[in-house]
Amino acid sequence: MSITSFIPPKRILMGPGPSDISPQVLQAQSRPTVGHLDPLFIAMMDELKQLLKYAFQTENEFTIAISAPGSAGMEACFVNLVEPGDKVIVCRNGVFGERMRENVVRSGGEAIVVDDEWGKPVSLDKVEQALELNPDAKILAFVHAETSTGACSDARALGALAKQHNVLTIVDTVTSLGGVPLKVDEWQLDAVYSGSQKCLSCVPGLSPLTFSSNAIAKIQARTTPVQSWFLDQSLVLGYWSGEGKRSYHHTAPVNSLYALHEALLVLKNEGLESSWKRHQAMHNKLKQGLQKLGFEFVVDEEHRLPQLNAVYVPEGIDEAAVRAHLLTTYNLEVGAGLGALAGKAWRIGLMGYGAREENVALCLKALEESLL
Ligand SMILES: *Cc1c(COP(=O)(O)O)cnc(C)c1O
Repeated sequence: MSITSFIPPKRILMGPGPSDISPQVLQAQSRPTVGHLDPLFIAMMDELKQLLKYAFQTENEFTIAISAPGSAGMEACFVNLVEPGDKVIVCRNGVFGERMRENVVRSGGEAIVVDDEWGKPVSLDKVEQALELNPDAKILAFVHAETSTGACSDARALGALAKQHNVLTIVDTVTSLGGVPLKVDEWQLDAVYSGSQKCLSCVPGLSPLTFSSNAIAKIQARTTPVQSWFLDQSLVLGYWSGEGKRSYHHTAPVNSLYALHEALLVLKNEGLESSWKRHQAMHNKLKQGLQKLGFEFVVDEEHRLPQLNAVYVPEGIDEAAVRAHLLTTYNLEVGAGLGALAGKAWRIGLMGYGAREENVALCLKALEESLL
């Protein structure tokens, strides 16, 4: 057996994540490792918090990155906020809404599910009805950008409904952060998690997270300890904001956090508004090309995410063979359909650094040639 260093090819990642990472961010990650309690590293973490607050558009003091992927951010929200017996209204219009429901149940909560068709946004009417029928509900949980379908739900309106009914919100913004407008404070969202590897174009394995003061108050009022030691945010708090007396909780993924710092700096330098506009402009280009090729979108234009383009696979096409061809011939990765859309759709991502002209052009050319 002769094992040598792994040298990956240079793929163009246009699936549902991970997304393309810029050389600048990859370089940041390869800088020398320092101790995770080194004063210089702690100063970097403070800047990271500032940058995360900007990305989330929040002043929440508790704004950090969990040392694990988006799924851990999801789990952190549920295990901290849901106490056994709590009623949680969960919106399910794709794969990630169903994962939220599972998290409610595993946290000992009672899930009240509001179902919407795959490809549709969460229905405000149904949520309002569920809130009225369940005045004892404590939390409303929903996915802002459903990556399994490419549908964007109205997080602002859902946040407002939740406040009217005096419930907290848990919001999945893994695919929305950086790609479409998201304003945590203005929209009054409470527990919001994201991921590093979608529109932030950072290395996978980190989950930005922010808690409002109301979310913190619910955690502090718990009568039972959080069953997960690693994700118990009351313990992590001392590490991220120990104000000079930072103590050990776990070893931070030092180099990955360098990459996140750099990726957020790139976002800040571009400006959030410009980033949102760029995603929309690239989507418009891709959409025009795809429509010329005869593709139909899964989601109606008005609720479509620019960064996740789900299109139906044309009749009579072996979708897996085409994706394999794209990968081997063009080094291009596009996503397969997930769940109800498995085998029926492709998911073309335009996320972060990947949302640029040359990627759109390559994708259209590769699809055209492959389908001939
Ligand atoms: C990708 C994704 C997740 C999970 O993130 P991981 O980093 O893969 O764990 C959760 N929710 C949504 C909407 C996602 O797109």
